[in-house]
Amino acid sequence: MASEIIFYGGIDQIGGNKILIKDSGESFFFDFGVSFEDQGRFFAEFLKPRGVKGIGDYLAFGLIPEIPCLYRTDLSSPTNFPCGKPPVDGVFLSHAHVDHFGYVCFIEENVPIYGSEITNKIIESYETVGTGGIEKEYIKMKKRPYGNYVSRTKWPDATRHFYKWADYKGAIQINFFDVDHSIWGAGGYEIDLSDRNVIFTGDFRQHGNRKDLTKNSLKKLETKDIDILIIEGTNVGNEAEEQQTKTLIETIIGKPLSKKLASEEELKEKALTIIQPSKSPVFVDFGIRDFDRFKTFYEIAQECDRKLVIPIKLAKHLDDLQSIIGIGPSDGNLLIYHEPKGLGSYDERDFYKKWERPLYKLNNVKRSDELLKELDTLIIFMDYFHMKNLVDLKPAKGIYIHSTTEPFSEEAAVDFRRHLEWIKLFNLDYHYLHVSGHMSAPEIFEVIDNLAPKQIIPIHTKGTEIFKKRYPNVIIPQKGQKIDIS
Ligand SMILES: [Zn+2]
Repeated sequence: MASEIIFYGGIDQIGGNKILIKDSGESFFFDFGVSFEDQGRFFAEFLKPRGVKGIGDYLAFGLIPEIPCLYRTDLSSPTNFPCGKPPVDGVFLSHAHVDHFGYVCFIEENVPIYGSEITNKIIESYETVGTGGIEKEYIKMKKRPYGNYVSRTKWPDATRHFYKWADYKGAIQINFFDVDHSIWGAGGYEIDLSDRNVIFTGDFRQHGNRKDLTKNSLKKLETKDIDILIIEGTNVGNEAEEQQTKTLIETIIGKPLSKKLASEEELKEKALTIIQPSKSPVFVDFGIRDFDRFKTFYEIAQECDRKLVIPIKLAKHLDDLQSIIGIGPSDGNLLIYHEPKGLGSYDERDFYKKWERPLYKLNNVKRSDELLKELDTLIIFMDYFHMKNLVDLKPAKGIYIHSTTEPFSEEAAVDFRRHLEWIKLFNLDYHYLHVSGHMSAPEIFEVIDNLAPKQIIPIHTKGTEIFKKRYPNVIIPQKGQKIDIS
């Protein structure tokens, strides 16, 4: 029987990949991510899908595919969505970004999830530091006895199992290949179906610290005859987002956007020229699970005789992934920011979570008043969510290095604007230094030319039309329909 490929997300938008592939009596999803664009169209911070309806609202707004028996029995029950033997044999994840794995939380818990070892570890650590709730139950979950009152402490526990991709031993030949991306453990899949082969790139770049991962994988793929290439195109057709970022920075900060940086090395060099001569405190914002960027600022701190101050969540990630990252939370070059909670007592019982408590006992933990004594010798992680600490630190002057992605959605643009207003209020010397987690458009086209696939499916992109104009063999799938391969 011919294989089938059906896209349930990731077409004509950035994120929300959900690709179903069926062959030889088995079927698998490749990524099962949250589409922030779809979710943001209907929902906002204080208007969320109702937990009381399980997956009901997610289905009603088309945020997850309407596939009977795919989801957790308890979450399907409020709307009587059909349950039974799951129609898929597993989900393969490309990497640990929420727009690629986030809706795994809803999938029937006995369906195995496959990823790289690092991806699985990052997701576990992310779940630990997260807020909980049905949207964050990736591994550990509480089965909800909908319709009856049962005390929360008595809800049954369940566990979803994550496996290394190589643990899958089935009918389809599926191989993972490593790539460089803004999160460690990222990769793509080589899927040899009975009647064709498919390459799915995941998200990738070749200008980070681990660019060789991408280059080596591509070199191997170039020797193959590829039938279908499913390739990400985040930076194809993203001019509107770039322009928006530029305008926001110029309007609010009143400073032109500095030129684009081509690599992580260049970012480090540029940041050093700003930080090295300075005698003021430095604040930085980078993706909290972007360990390349963390290492860049860790090294910069060392080279500038400064200490890097990190938030408790990052300390937890370092603790959970120490064997992989090679830097632990009690490292001599790091300080951990002890933020006040509850009644401001700093007592571990004062609203501190269980996982936070042992970390706050480390010797390198500092409160605002302690940091103030050495403020000029610090580089402090200060993302959008930690900016409130600036009120306590009251820096007379300082540098702010903004090192996160451009806003890709309306909501993210509103947050970006607010973030800039804070920086302006505290009169910090602003620098936007960022290197994309994705290949540039010319690089994407070069990859396509080198791999010379029979057919191309662009995903995770707003630039679908650009692909179509450039190549005659582009397929644009319709959501939920088998792709037509002639
Ligand atoms: Zn990603």
